[in-house]
Amino acid sequence: MQYLSTRGVAPPVGAGAAMLAGLAPDGGLYVPEQFPLLPPDRFPPGAHLADTAPRLLAPFVAGDALATELDAVCAEALDFPVPLTEAGGFRVLELFHGPTAAFKDVGARFLAACLARLAGDRPRTVLVATSGDTGGAVAAAFSGRPGFRVVLLYPRGRVSDRQEAQLTCWGENVLSLRVDGDFDDCQRMVKEAFGDTALRARAGLTSANSISIGRLLPQAAYYAWAGLTVWRETGTAPGFIIPSGNLGNSLACLWARRCGLPIGPVVLATNANETVGDFFAGGEWAPRATVQTLATAMDVGNPSNMERLLHMAGSPEAARGEASAVRVSDAEIRAAIRTGPGRYGRTWCPHTATAVRAWELLPAEAAQRPWVVVATAHPAKFEDVVEPLVGAEVPMPPALAELMARPRHFVEIGPEFAAFRELLSDLPGIP
Ligand SMILES: *Cc1c(COP(=O)(O)O)cnc(C)c1O
Repeated sequence: MQYLSTRGVAPPVGAGAAMLAGLAPDGGLYVPEQFPLLPPDRFPPGAHLADTAPRLLAPFVAGDALATELDAVCAEALDFPVPLTEAGGFRVLELFHGPTAAFKDVGARFLAACLARLAGDRPRTVLVATSGDTGGAVAAAFSGRPGFRVVLLYPRGRVSDRQEAQLTCWGENVLSLRVDGDFDDCQRMVKEAFGDTALRARAGLTSANSISIGRLLPQAAYYAWAGLTVWRETGTAPGFIIPSGNLGNSLACLWARRCGLPIGPVVLATNANETVGDFFAGGEWAPRATVQTLATAMDVGNPSNMERLLHMAGSPEAARGEASAVRVSDAEIRAAIRTGPGRYGRTWCPHTATAVRAWELLPAEAAQRPWVVVATAHPAKFEDVVEPLVGAEVPMPPALAELMARPRHFVEIGPEFAAFRELLSDLPGIP
């Protein structure tokens, strides 16, 4: 399988090269040149996620050095439970049982397992700007891996206390930089570093941000697995409702459906950031400034994976046919969290709450089929929002509690590139 740039200028590359590059050299995003057709009978009934993933992903790494490593990569990256449970009217795909209690563990662990097999002897510095869940997942995935160092930048005072603990508890090969600025400053500094050819070579810079194909592909696997499971049980392809920000998680679902997996309608649940909702309501694609909401990991005004969706669909009109979008306000998020325990016996995180609300808003006719609500984070990660609404403490999963107890390490820096560049240039060799 070759990967093309959405901008059509950069030459096609194999899966491994696309993962190592992150962004294509023409500024586009890598997409598979075609989608393999994988009918359900290719997947044995009752298979677990870790067995389903290699069958789905084999065509996507065919012809690449990763092909012979795929089974091992999937076994290593998908070694935590991904339950599909029942909650009063719909199913819940619980993607938050990994080391940092959010679905980003899936992509980050798969990418790390791939890069560890691709990087050769050359030491690599994985550089990430993060506004929350990504940085922790990437740090966890690369922590203690020989030949890798992680440098992550996060905005001071803009992440929750528990998120900050996850960004700073690693030590060893993880350097956490607390930037006196906002997320856009962090992102700009990372972009400048990648644009600095000398620095890029010297520090062996590698990207792990959400546009990496190595993070998207494994996400398609849980949709394939959940779609097959519900379809075998009920005879109907389930619909999926996905809390969406940068659209990476939703795009993976649409890719799985393109491959012929039993996946019905896809609903993107968004927060008060209107870009996606406006587009699916028939408007132009018009990125906006980001608005802060309770579902912070979905606060994205210019979702970068739209470029991939438009490329796959071929036109804005066709893209609107792939999915629909439902906007959920902060007031509705609060209400969904508050009523979660009584109505469904569940405590939702603010992101999952947007999808639950979107399910409640489904027209009666659509609600006839089975639906899967995608639960993207554990509510204990957002206890400051959730606990006052449900009036109870939300117990932390043991893995999360263990991270919270660790000492925190970070270095404070300003939002200027020059000082950041100096710091990156002077980092000691990677063991
Ligand atoms: C990142 C994130 C999202 C949004 O996912 P995208 O792939 O950016 O659309 C939703 N929920 C949580 C908890 C997240 O961390």
